[in-house]
Amino acid sequence: MRIVVIGGVAGGMSAAAKARRTNKDAEIVVFEKGRFVSYGACGMPYFLSGEIESYEELIVRKPEDFEKAGIKVNLGWEAKEIDAKNFKVIVESREGKKEEVSFDSLVIATGASSRRLPIEGVDLKGVFTLKSLDDGIAIKNYISDKKVKRAAVIGAGFIGLELIDAFVRQGIEVVSIDIVPSPPPQFDDDMVDFVKEKADENKVITCWGSKVDRIEGGDSVEAVVVEGERFPVDMVVLSVGVSPNSEIAERAGIELSVASAIKVDERMQTSVEGIYAAGDCTHSYSVVTGKPIYLPLGSLANRHGRVAGTNAAGKNAVMHPVAGSSIVKFFDIGLARAGLTESEAKSEGFDVASVVIKAYDKAHYYPGAGKMKVKLVWDKASGRLLGAQLAGPYTGVKRIDVVASLLIKRATVSDLKSVDLAYAPPFSPVWDPLSIAANQAVKD
Ligand SMILES: Cc1cc2nc3c(=O)[nH]c(=O)nc-3n(C[C@H](O)[C@H](O)[C@H](O)COP(=O)(O)OP(=O)(O)OC[C@H]3O[C@@H](n4cnc5c(N)ncnc54)[C@H](O)[C@@H]3O)c2cc1C
Repeated sequence: MRIVVIGGVAGGMSAAAKARRTNKDAEIVVFEKGRFVSYGACGMPYFLSGEIESYEELIVRKPEDFEKAGIKVNLGWEAKEIDAKNFKVIVESREGKKEEVSFDSLVIATGASSRRLPIEGVDLKGVFTLKSLDDGIAIKNYISDKKVKRAAVIGAGFIGLELIDAFVRQGIEVVSIDIVPSPPPQFDDDMVDFVKEKADENKVITCWGSKVDRIEGGDSVEAVVVEGERFPVDMVVLSVGVSPNSEIAERAGIELSVASAIKVDERMQTSVEGIYAAGDCTHSYSVVTGKPIYLPLGSLANRHGRVAGTNAAGKNAVMHPVAGSSIVKFFDIGLARAGLTESEAKSEGFDVASVVIKAYDKAHYYPGAGKMKVKLVWDKASGRLLGAQLAGPYTGVKRIDVVASLLIKRATVSDLKSVDLAYAPPFSPVWDPLSIAANQAVKD
C-alpha cells in the first residue's frame, strides 16, 4: 500500500507520522515544495522578536528523522496535478524533473497562502508576508541587513499583533494599520480595550479604522500612505489573513466548501473516497452550529493530520467538531476565545444573552495580579453556552480551555456556574473570573 502526502508541515507530517504508526507496512511518501518540513510556524514571531535565537529551534523533526521511521520525504518537489480517477499525482522537482506517482490513498495538506492587498507598491522590495519559515528568515535578514528602524504592519489580527510585539521588542517603531476600528476583528468590540491600551503604552502608531492607500518607494519600501497621511517606513508586513491552497484539489474535481477550503467529512475524507485533506487547506465543523467553519490553526492542523493519517492507513478515526479555541499574546496581555462571539452568534440567528465582567486574575493581594475581562455568550431560552472571550494578563487567559471543554458537551451557563475551579492565590481569586461571570449570568 502506498500513501502519498502533499505538504510537509503540521497537517502533512502529522498525517504521515500517524499513518506510519497505524500501518507498519505501508510505503509513505511526502512531497514538500519548500526547503523545510515539520516546523512550528507559530513560533516565528518569537524568532523575529529575538526570544528564540535560531530558526532551527522551531524545527520539530528533520527529513532524516522521518526517513529513519520509514517515511520518504521529497523536499523541493511540488505536486502539480492530482489524477483523482486513476489515483496518481504528477510531481515536479525544483530542477524541472517530472514524475507520475501512483497512490492507494492520498492526504492533501497543502496549507494556505497569505493574502496580499491589491494596492500600489505591494510588490516593492521590503514588503513581506509571514506564512512559511522562509518568510520568517527573509524578514529577520531584511531587518538586520537594512537596519530597519520603522515598520508598518498591515492587519492587526492574531499574527499582526504578534508581529507588532516582536518588532517593538527589537527596538523597531511600528505603524499598525487595520480597517477595523477596534482590532483584533476576531473579538467583540467590548473585549478589546486592553489591546489599544497596550499599543499606546508601547508607542505603537495605530491607524485603526483606516484603509491603506498605497506603499511608496523607489528601489525598496520608503513609506505607507494611510488615508492621505504618509508614514516613512523601512519595511511593510502584510498580515491580512490566509486563503486555503485548494486549487490543486479543485482542478482534480474534488469539491470545495466554506471559504474555498477542501470539503471533508468527519473522517477528513474529501468528496473522493481514498483522498483525504488536513490542515489549513481544509475546514472543520463547529461544535456550536454544526456547520463547516474555516479555522486555519496549528492546533487543528495537527488534529486533522492524525485523523487523516489514520484513515489513509486503513483504520477508522473521526475528527470531532471544534470549539475554535484560539489565544494570542500581545506584550503582557492575552486574548482568548472559544465558540462564537456575540456578533457571530447573532448572525447565526441565536437569540443571545451575554455578560461581561472584570475581575482579578489572581488573588488581588498576590504580586502581579491584574484585571481581566470575561465575556460569556449563551442562548437565552435554553441557557446553552455559545461562546466565551477572555482578555487580560496573558498568564490568565488560558482558562478559556474550561469553556472549550464545556462547549463540546453542549453545556449551559448553569453548568459553568457549578464547576469547582481550582483555587490558590497565585492562580486565581477564590471566585475564579469564569465563576464570577457564570454567577452573573445565572442569578439565583
Ligand atoms: C506567524 C504565525 C503564527 C501562528 N501562530 C499560531 C498559533 O499560535 N496557534 C495556532 O493554532 N496556529 C498558529 N498559526 C497557524 C499555523 O501555523 C497553521 O495553522 C499551520 O502551519 C497549518 O499547517 P498546514 O500543514 O496545514 O499548512 P502550512 O503550514 O501552510 O504548510 C503547507 C505546506 O504545504 C506545502 N505545499 C503547498 N502546496 C504544495 C504542493 N502542491 N506540492 C508540495 N508541497 C506543497 C507548502 O510549501 C507548505 O510547506 C500561526 C501561523 C503563522 C504564520
